[in-house]
Amino acid sequence: SKGFVGLQDLDNLAKNSFPLCMRHLFFNLRHEHHLKFGGRQQLGLFLKGIGLKLEDALNFWRSEFTVKLIRRLYILNLPRWLVEVVQMTTEKFDKEYGYSIRHNFGKEGKRVDYTPYSCMKIITSTPGVGDHHGCPYRHFSQENLRSVLEDQQLSSRTVDAVMEKVRNRHYQLACATTFEAIHGCPSDGINHPNQYFEQSRRALQ
Ligand code: SF4
Repeated sequence: SKGFVGLQDLDNLAKNSFPLCMRHLFFNLRHEHHLKFGGRQQLGLFLKGIGLKLEDALNFWRSEFTVKLIRRLYILNLPRWLVEVVQMTTEKFDKEYGYSIRHNFGKEGKRVDYTPYSCMKIITSTPGVGDHHGCPYRHFSQENLRSVLEDQQLSSRTVDAVMEKVRNRHYQLACATTFEAIHGCPSDGINHPNQYFEQSRRALQ
């Protein structure tokens, strides 16, 4: 009995109930107004799994991708810069990205209703330069992961416990330890980002 999730709830849910892998993608999208293919798939299917409807998903991605960006182009040796306004049109978005979003909802192509990625699939993925998908416990550098965990207000003892699990390549256990520290209650184990989300919503009720 999963309810629908509305667009207006997304930022709060991302902050409070998304696992690190999805938080990272979500806030990158919010800040950079773009995500490469692997990230769009990983986050898009997760959002579908938490109950975001197709129309809302299209609006969500479209509103980010068509944000007007102001880019400053500095001119070498000149004390001034040019401002370039970059904006993807709605038509271009619908043409290039709308299809794959509808596809993930089973509305195009073979009409398969694609399932969100499991932790194992995410952990064994191989993000390249400029990609933000993957599992932070597996793919972030130790320093980067440590600072992300410290930003979550985790105690240094918890951060050490998480890092220890990461060093032993127990990424899902590291994620479960983070969950338990954030929510102050035990988890049933973490095998899937959507399962993390559901456990979190239950714990915060
Ligand atoms: Fe996401 Fe799973 Fe990694 Fe946790 S262990 S961050 S849910 S992929």
